[in-house]
Amino acid sequence: MLTLDRLSAGYGPVRALQDVSFTAAKGQITAVLGANGAGKTTLLRTVSGLHRAESGTIELDGKPLRRTPAELMPALGMVHVPEGRGVITELSVEENLRLGGLAKGGKVRPEDLHRAYDLFPVLADRRAGLAHTLSGGERQMLVIGRALMSEPRLLLLDEPSLGLAPRIVAQIFDLLRGQVDDHGLTVLLVEQNARSALSVADHGIVLNLGRVVADEPAAVLAADDQLRHAYLGF
Ligand code: ATP
Repeated sequence: MLTLDRLSAGYGPVRALQDVSFTAAKGQITAVLGANGAGKTTLLRTVSGLHRAESGTIELDGKPLRRTPAELMPALGMVHVPEGRGVITELSVEENLRLGGLAKGGKVRPEDLHRAYDLFPVLADRRAGLAHTLSGGERQMLVIGRALMSEPRLLLLDEPSLGLAPRIVAQIFDLLRGQVDDHGLTVLLVEQNARSALSVADHGIVLNLGRVVADEPAAVLAADDQLRHAYLGF
């Protein structure tokens, strides 16, 4: 379980997050929604230690993490998949997966590779190919597969649907749902595509100008016409 309490962060005079408090429950997908510039990416970067919070607390299963450097997070069970599907294009698919296995320290275990290939069979077919030959959807599968190599308890996912066909997005979200239901993974999912995100999420947080304006079960947010029109764009 991830708990944020009065978390604030910014860039010089820009207040990107202001007193953000919420809990992402264990074994659930919590969607973080809101317009461009609402603070979603800053929230993920602050939770994962890539951006420094100014105040407030971040706890993962009761352990305070606000001052923990980003490179230590995988060993503590948190992995961040930033926007942009950053695969290492000069390496093979399998080498990219192996990097994910090294993130928490120690050796890459064959069973972790098997798990990634079971989850995304297309990656098994392409395991020896260079990552630059993958399509956008396959790259998104590779970065999620790479993140799961270290068996995180908490996965932070930034805009996985961006630029992908709806059919591919639905496939990726289905697989993510399976990981949550079968392995108790906790997911914080940042999305501009609120409709898709709410279709897979258990719970939703809406940010506006760095503040939480709604914190409700996904079905409640999806049924709230006023909120959808005001903040979610559908
Ligand atoms: P998007 O979907 O466009 O990425 P977002 O909801 O993720 O939007 P953030 O990228 O977190 O929002 O931005 C929150 C605020 O912080 C915005 O006002 C943005 O202009 C500002 N901001 C983000 N990154 C920087 C930066 N590196 N330097 C200065 N201001 C920034």
